[in-house]
Amino acid sequence: MSNEQAKNPHLDGAEDIIIIDQLNKWYGDFHVLKNIDLTVKKSERIVICGPSGSGKSTLIRCINRLEEFQRGSLIVDGVEMIDDIKNIEAIRREVGMVFQHFNLFPHLTILENLTLGPIWVQKKPKAEAEATAMKYLERVKIPEQALKFPGQLSGGQQQRVAIARSLCMSPKVMLFDEPTSALDPEMIKEVLDVMVELAEEEGMTMLCVTHEMGFAKKVADRVIFMDAGEIVEQNTPHEFFDNPQVDRTQKFLEQIL
Ligand code: ADP
Ligand code: MG
Repeated sequence: MSNEQAKNPHLDGAEDIIIIDQLNKWYGDFHVLKNIDLTVKKSERIVICGPSGSGKSTLIRCINRLEEFQRGSLIVDGVEMIDDIKNIEAIRREVGMVFQHFNLFPHLTILENLTLGPIWVQKKPKAEAEATAMKYLERVKIPEQALKFPGQLSGGQQQRVAIARSLCMSPKVMLFDEPTSALDPEMIKEVLDVMVELAEEEGMTMLCVTHEMGFAKKVADRVIFMDAGEIVEQNTPHEFFDNPQVDRTQKFLEQIL
């Protein structure tokens, strides 16, 4: 297995923010994650790809504790994931997640969707939460949509709202699970552009499950290929796409490229 840690200058001396050691998870008898080792540096951008059912969603859902695991350890920003509600809350505060389906509350305005967590979870004053929400709506280029409801927005706009909503919680890590795969082709770029800016301008630590190879080549420090619950290969995007080492990776790339 190729195990190249990215050697990008922007990661020089960066501390480890996620440390996953021999993580194993089962759904009943089904061994869904097998001996996952993964260390992520602050500001590192990781793209995870692999066939459907290989465990990509399960892995990133373990990182913010949407899923439990049975063996191994997982540390996020110095907090170990054990069955302790305080730890789970601490992790959820630090890790934002954007899903394939945007999961906005349909009966709340965009602004209300963005301020819900900051007001009720982080106990921020409403005015402050709204100011932050408007800042991030500007960042994702749709401040004029603030008072509309999700159903009045396009899919691409809703996904940008979902990204802004995560940013309002000031996460240290952002997880994306196929954020563009439910979008019409003409909306994919507007969402990817926002994600590229987030990586380049904010230096956000990002783990993104996606098969968007253009995005991977542009921003990823490292591409990880999963198959059947294992990390099969990982490398810089250039090496990964142009010179895949493992048979299973080559077969996968032939299908998607
Ligand atoms: P991916 O995101 O790579 O497509 P997933 O992590 O969603 O893969 O799923 C990995 C495997 O685990 C699949 O075979 C899936 O059917 C199975 N799986 C996912 N969630 C559950 C669950 N809640 N209960 C049982 N099996 C599950
Ligand atoms: Mg998935």
